[in-house]
Order: sequence, then C-alpha cells, then structure tokens
Amino acid sequence: MSVDQRTHDDPAPESEAERKFWTYRDKFPPHLEAAFQGEIDRIRERRLRKTGIAAVLLYAAFAISDRVMVPDVWLKAWAIRFIVVVPVLLLATFNLYKLRHPVAREVLMSAALILCGISLPWIAGLSTHPYAAHYQTGITLIVWFGNIVLNLRFRSALVTSLLITLMYGMTLAGIASMPPEVKFNNWLFCLAAVIISLIANFRMDQDQRRAWLARLREVERNEELSHAVELLARISAEDELTQLANRREFDRRLNLEWSRARREARPVALALVDVDFFKNYNDHYGHPSGDDCLQRVAAALRSVPRRPADLVARFGGEEFVVLLPGANAEDAAAIAEKLRHAVLDLQIPHAASRVAPGVTASFGVASMLPVAHEQPAELIAAADAALYRAKEQGRNRVVMHEESQDIAPVRADY
Ligand code: GH3
Ligand code: MG
Ligand code: MG
Repeated sequence: MSVDQRTHDDPAPESEAERKFWTYRDKFPPHLEAAFQGEIDRIRERRLRKTGIAAVLLYAAFAISDRVMVPDVWLKAWAIRFIVVVPVLLLATFNLYKLRHPVAREVLMSAALILCGISLPWIAGLSTHPYAAHYQTGITLIVWFGNIVLNLRFRSALVTSLLITLMYGMTLAGIASMPPEVKFNNWLFCLAAVIISLIANFRMDQDQRRAWLARLREVERNEELSHAVELLARISAEDELTQLANRREFDRRLNLEWSRARREARPVALALVDVDFFKNYNDHYGHPSGDDCLQRVAAALRSVPRRPADLVARFGGEEFVVLLPGANAEDAAAIAEKLRHAVLDLQIPHAASRVAPGVTASFGVASMLPVAHEQPAELIAAADAALYRAKEQGRNRVVMHEESQDIAPVRADY
C-alpha cells in the first residue's frame, strides 16, 4: 500500500485531515481509507473484550444504587439491568467480531449503547421515589463511553448519541414528578455531553489518521532506504560490464581469506588471468565486440570454481583474478587448467591472435601459506610474476609461481 497511489484528483491526506468538524467525510482516498479502517478495526477488536467487560461491571455496580435511589422499583430495575441490558452488552462484547460486515458491527455496538443508555431513564420513570428524578444523569457516562472509550466511528457515534439524546428527551417528558426546568437542564446536560464527546471522537479520529499516515510513510521510507543500501552495496562490489566482483570486492575478500587462512594454517591460491592479444581483438573487431568477448570470458571463468569461498573477479581491463582459499599449488594449477579450457571452449574467433584461431588467456598461479610477515600483496605479485612468464613462454598456458613450482608448467594444447 503506497501513500503515492492516490490519483491527482484525490486531495492529499494531510490537507484532508485538516478538514473542519462540520465538513467531515471520509478523509483518505478509498485505497488508503480501507487500509486505515482495517487497522483501526484490528485495534478495536484487540481491545473490545477488556473494554466490554469493564463496561458491564461498571453498569452492574449501579445495581447497588438501585436499592437506595429507586427503592420502590429496585427489583424491576435489577430485572432491566440483568435480564435485558447485561446480556445484550455481553453478546456485543463477545460476538461483535463474529459479524463480518463492519456496518453490522457498528449497528450492534450502537444498539447495545442505546439500550444501556435508555435503561436509566426507563428505571427512573418507573419509580415514584423523590430521588428518582436525579437517577438518569448517568446517561452522560454512557455517551462518553461510546464516543471516547469505544471510539465508535464518527458517523455511528453521531447517530447513536443523537438517538440517545432524543429518546432521553422523550422519557424525561414522561416523568411527571420532575419540574420542566429540571427536565430541560438534564436534557441540556446530556446534549452537552454528546457534543463534547463527539468533538473528542472527531479529534481522536484525526490524530489516529495522522499517526497512521506517519507510520505508513516511515515504512515506505525504510523500504526505500534498504533498497538503496542494497543497491549501493551491490554497485560498490560489482563490475558493471561483467557483473563479476570488482577490484574493491576482490581486495576485501582477499584480505579476509588471507587472515582466515593464517588463523587456520591453510594455503590461499590465486590465478591471475589475462586475455591474450586483446588489444588486437579490439582493433580487429571493434571495442563493443571486445566488451562482448570480455562478458563471455567472465561467464566462462565464473562457471569453473565450485567452493563457496572461491571468487572470480575482474582485476582490471582484460584481466581477471580467481581467488581459491584453501587450494594448494596442485589444486590451483588443476583449476587454472580448467579455467583455461573454459575460455578455449568458448571458441570465440580471434583472427588477430598470434597464438590460436580463437580467444585464449594466460594464467599466472600462486599458492601461499600465509605467515605473519607476509601480506596478500605478495600473493598477487607472485601470481603476476607467473603470468608474466606465461606470456613470455608463448601465452595460452598456466604457469605456476616458481617458489610453489611443485608441478611443471602446463603446456598449451589448443
Ligand atoms: P597480451 O597478450 O600481452 O596480454 O596482449 P594484450 O593486447 O591483451 O595486452 P594489452 O595490455 O596491450 O591490451 C589490453 C587491451 O584490453 C587494451 C584495452 O583497450 C583493452 N581493454 C581493457 N579494458 C577493456 C574493456 O573494458 N573493454 C574492451 N573492449 N577492451 C578493453
Ligand atoms: Mg593485460
Ligand atoms: Mg592481454
């Protein structure tokens, strides 16, 4: 869900959220509104059980007052409370979210609140006791509960509150013992409670919208940021032309493997690869064909090493390097020979080569057991010296660094 999915016709949610009280209507464009309402619904569902139980307990607690405020009808009052109202409240509390349709849920919640609210003037109306005239003011608490604690949607809060106020006015009219001035005052009190709690309900809705939108933006920004970090990491480690590791990544991995090999007393091997007569290739076939050739050579080289720690990288220009942690001179020579064949097997025509009819490469290989005073640069220098000799000896061959020359240089055999 993207904040920017809104169309140009949709007003920006922030300015919508600033709407005035009397111009209220759904504030987000439909796709955001649905997601927002879904989120609010989930929060309400999580809280409903505890809130509902608290409401039932508070409502039931007033049964004690029934005994003293309406002593003449307390039994009827209890019947209204415990046989009519409490079961409906419990039903709403425990079954509301079994109703799948949001409108059905709002209707059940509103009905429970209206019944609860109206039960007080109902009880008061049954009694002829002088205290009964004061007994229905608790209706304001129920209005507050619905609009502020239950956090009804504004529209259902408005409808529910107005219905309660209206029905309250009607039941007040039926109480003969109450002077009209007191009735008006009580009714006005209820109306004021409705208005105050509706304002609170509306402001809470605005705050929830702003907070939700801010969270949504944060999630989007974090996603963008992690994509950017990922991209940056890839770009800084990858060669653009061949998609092999670049020189920087190779240096990093060489240092890492060098330290690890020193700790574990294992060898590290390198094969430096240089495409033969590549300047001639470019001159003959053109630079773009040269690029294609490098890409194919890179793919061929990448297909050879098997171990997870092995790394094929572009060393620069038409030179590549293959890092082989744990490989001794013999292993490295065998792998270099496979690499050489992989290039040969591409059979890329190279009319300007003085060594073969197709593209070939020369390989300088060195394997070292890292010891304290040696640096990874020495391994590169050793492989480079071997590569120089491979060129000297006629190209398209693998030459081992002299100190690790436990096997003879491999002859060309194209
Ligand atoms: P040798 O067999 O001795 O290695 O000869 P060579 O021609 O391969 O060696 P030299 O170092 O003289 O030439 C390397 C050529 O590689 C020159 C340069 O234009 C070309 N080259 C380097 N990087 C790229 C590249 O990214 N794309 C293309 N097409 N050519 C490149
Ligand atoms: Mg070169
Ligand atoms: Mg070359």
